Formats: sequence, C-alpha cells, structure tokens
Amino acid sequence: MPAKKAARKNIDIVKKGDIEVRIIRDLCIGAATCIVYAPSTFDLDEDNIAIAKNGEWDRLEKIIAAAQSCPVVAIEVFQKGKKVYPK
Ligand code: SF4
Repeated sequence: MPAKKAARKNIDIVKKGDIEVRIIRDLCIGAATCIVYAPSTFDLDEDNIAIAKNGEWDRLEKIIAAAQSCPVVAIEVFQKGKKVYPK
C-alpha cells in the first residue's frame, strides 16, 4: 500500500567518518535500548524518537549492538557505503 511506503520515508541519515546510521523514525517507539548500548551515538529527541548525536560516536561494535538491541529494527548501520546491520 502506498501509505506504508510513505511512512518509511521519515528516515534520519547521519554520517560520521566512514560510518552512517539511518534511523527510521516512523518505526522508533522510544524504547531507548539503543541509548544504553551506544550512549555517545544515540539520544532521544523531545518526541522520544531516536536521533544521532553530534560529537564523537561510540565505536562501530557498540553502534551495531545498539541497532541489534532495537526491538523494532529502526536503526540501520552502514560502513563505507556497505550495510553492516541488518544484513
Ligand atoms: S532502540 Fe529503537 S525504538 Fe528504541 S529508541 Fe532506539 S531506535 Fe527507537
């Protein structure tokens, strides 16, 4: 259905060095487990939706762990343009 496709368009794409995270904001339910795993990379905005932070990020392993912890798979992780999670 076209309505579902439109909903997936609200994606926050943030790059740092060769790492890129994509937060599918329409999926995010504000569970905040990503923040527990990668507190230097993710935060919640005023609507309780995940955002990528400014400044130094966590190392890649922690960012992937954060993405894996997300109950709704709202975080995608890329390195050098290649998707590393989810595969
Ligand atoms: S773990 Fe997933 S649902 Fe929870 S805040 Fe992070 S991105 Fe959103």
